[in-house]
Amino acid sequence: MKAPSFAYAKPGTLPQVFDLLERHGDGAKILAGGQSLLASLNLRLSSPELLIDITGLPGLNGIRIADGKVRIGALTTHRQIEQSSEIAEHLPLLAQAVRHVAHVAIRNVGTIGGSFALADPAAEYPACAVALDATVVLAGSKGERRVKARDFFRSLYETALVPGEIVTAVEFDAIRPNFRSVFLELARRQGDYAIVGLAAHAKADGSRFSDVRLAFLGAGATPVLAGNAMASLEGKPCSADVVAAAKEALAEDLDPPKDLTTSSAAKLHLARVLTGRALAALSQ
Ligand SMILES: Cc1cc2nc3c(=O)[nH]c(=O)nc-3n(C[C@H](O)[C@H](O)[C@H](O)COP(=O)(O)OP(=O)(O)OC[C@H]3O[C@@H](n4cnc5c(N)ncnc54)[C@H](O)[C@@H]3O)c2cc1C
Repeated sequence: MKAPSFAYAKPGTLPQVFDLLERHGDGAKILAGGQSLLASLNLRLSSPELLIDITGLPGLNGIRIADGKVRIGALTTHRQIEQSSEIAEHLPLLAQAVRHVAHVAIRNVGTIGGSFALADPAAEYPACAVALDATVVLAGSKGERRVKARDFFRSLYETALVPGEIVTAVEFDAIRPNFRSVFLELARRQGDYAIVGLAAHAKADGSRFSDVRLAFLGAGATPVLAGNAMASLEGKPCSADVVAAAKEALAEDLDPPKDLTTSSAAKLHLARVLTGRALAALSQ
């Protein structure tokens, strides 16, 4: 199938984007890498009257490290993130996760802003952002606002973006000394969306768990922070009993929706498997 016909604009400034969004309302859609949007048009799941191509906007592309923060512009592609030595050094969780995002051809053009705005529950970055308590930077005609990742992802494909706003950047704290990150996922084939995945981060001294963050993807309508499992680990020794108790506690944290191929119980089992692997890696 082919996309329905639409008008196209490529503004060169943010105020022009906001003006177009205001004038066209629901009839306009932001176009970034197009890797999800164009597929949805071709499948006729969406029929906007206007696509606003933001790829020509200055200042939205690139990775900046300053004052212990990593700021990634919305137009930064998955491939830029994958190939960045700064991301490898300061955000190892994202560096591990990006290798699971689709295939190279898609990573070449798909953007981090598009991934956040789409808010697919099985996407890798949103879970990383929740695990690392990242901040999403939004802008509209009334100015800029910042929303914590845990508040940004509201429901299935639903975010805190309001009409007229776009994502301009995502900000993470750079990893601190003695902390470690592990990203794991299970997918049918390399490059497929995950069945279940886990973004894990903790202070690593090899003897006790502390400051553990466990955020799951593919296990709910949004990334799910496993609060009970995290609490069960806090200050405890890195022992088999403690890991088993955390895996058990996941039953209170996760109620994964079944999909066409995997039952809810199977997803919970897979989440426990990933948790065991991640905690083993974090406690080394
Ligand atoms: C075969 C296939 C496999 C894939 N596998 C994965 C995967 O495993 N993991 C994964 O995370 N993703 C996967 N993706 C999606 C891919 O990562 C997309 O690049 C990403 O989801 C959207 O980025 P984009 O720049 O292409 O956005 P677009 O497709 O241009 O836009 C997506 C949506 O976000 C909106 N939007 C885009 N940018 C902004 C912005 N800055 N502010 C506000 N709204 C905006 C658009 O209006 C649209 O609604 C896959 C895609 C395909 C086709």
